[in-house]
Amino acid sequence: MIENHIVKIANIEIGGQNPIVAQSMTNTNTLDTQASVNQIIELVNAGSKIVRLTCRSIKEAENLKNIKELLIKNEIRIPLVADTHFSPAVAEAAAVYADKVRINPGNYIDKRRQKSKFTEEEHKEELIKIRGKLGRLIEICEENSTAVRIGVNHGSLSERMLFRYGNTARGMYESAMEFIKIFRELNFHNLVISLKASYVPTMMEANKLLHDEMHKKGFYYPIHLGVTEAGDGEEARVKSAAGIGSLLAEGIGDTIRVSLTENPIEEIPFADKLIEIYGKRQTLPMPYYELNRTSKPQIILKYNSHDEEELLINSSVDFTRLNESGLYKKLKIITNGEPKNELSDIILQALGIKYSKAEFIACPSCGRTLFNIIDELKKVKQKTSHLKGLKIAVMGCIVNGIGEMADADYGYVGAGAGKVNLYKQKQIISKNINESLAVDELIKIIKENGDWKLETE
Ligand code: SF4
Repeated sequence: MIENHIVKIANIEIGGQNPIVAQSMTNTNTLDTQASVNQIIELVNAGSKIVRLTCRSIKEAENLKNIKELLIKNEIRIPLVADTHFSPAVAEAAAVYADKVRINPGNYIDKRRQKSKFTEEEHKEELIKIRGKLGRLIEICEENSTAVRIGVNHGSLSERMLFRYGNTARGMYESAMEFIKIFRELNFHNLVISLKASYVPTMMEANKLLHDEMHKKGFYYPIHLGVTEAGDGEEARVKSAAGIGSLLAEGIGDTIRVSLTENPIEEIPFADKLIEIYGKRQTLPMPYYELNRTSKPQIILKYNSHDEEELLINSSVDFTRLNESGLYKKLKIITNGEPKNELSDIILQALGIKYSKAEFIACPSCGRTLFNIIDELKKVKQKTSHLKGLKIAVMGCIVNGIGEMADADYGYVGAGAGKVNLYKQKQIISKNINESLAVDELIKIIKENGDWKLETE
């Protein structure tokens, strides 16, 4: 008999047979009570069932109290999640007011020390420190009925985990499991787990591992699904459908977030559609397909649909599920007799099978973002999409952005109000560039490094 934990976050329950819910995150300054409340109300009206806010400092964590009070005055009751990084003190302050606190095992205690090796002794010492700090957080969460999300990101694994497991799906899983073990030993079970990555196959592998291993160990905590730094537009929606939709179709996942570098309210209808089609809490039958065996085997998917979004979702999920083995390198999508070659290319690129243009990763932004990332991402894409083979990151802040952009060739990262730093891999090339000049400066850097090609090449 499996120990199946249902988690209560304020007025909603997740896990078990409870409905799968969509959530989003504000991108306002959490100290700005009115702006945050306004955006939360917009998200609630769009259908978000949980809302997360960034908490960079104790002051921001404490301002959740004012945000909650103003929401109640507006007759809005929605679970609030505090997103904390780096400081256990911030997580502890947030746990008093938030309904759930998200901590990141990659930076909760483990400090960046530029260390690449850890002895067995050092590893154990870190674990003892983590256990001590989690003990304090648990006490506060118990006193205030606050849930915890152990939120691992592929781009911010601790140096200790990187040394043991490398930058892998296994490293993500082990990072979460180390924390789950401590929470279990301390008898705290109001836990949700997430393993997010920007590369869809890594995100899927990590979540399947987590799901299967929890079952093998005889317990289960709700899983929150998301493809992080997915960017915007069709590319982002294909990545989210492929990663989140395919896992939901296997019966994995209890809450989801579709991360878009767009207005956060745009995330909800798409997330709801994924839940509507695939969130049945069971493994759905494999889709029908045809196979062309001439040269490299090609999957042919045929639909009769005039709904572009539904077509994008169905074809992304169907191909991802059919190609779990990675055997198929070619895809043809036909709807109402018409080929959809651009969509096929976007899906193949999202799964890392064939790159037909530059690859972009971009964070959805949050209260740490102090420049207009939505417009800037559009400009960067417009000018550099033709640079097939390059990976370009557009990130909201230097605090998390640099770690999260992992293997990008170039990075465009928010550095302050209206200011951007530009990177070649992880090396900073230009600092504090005015955002209105930064795209041109980025192009200059790409040219200087010999990576610029003409669109017609
Ligand atoms: S990288 Fe983006 S989403 Fe992540 S903390 Fe920074 S601004 Fe927020």
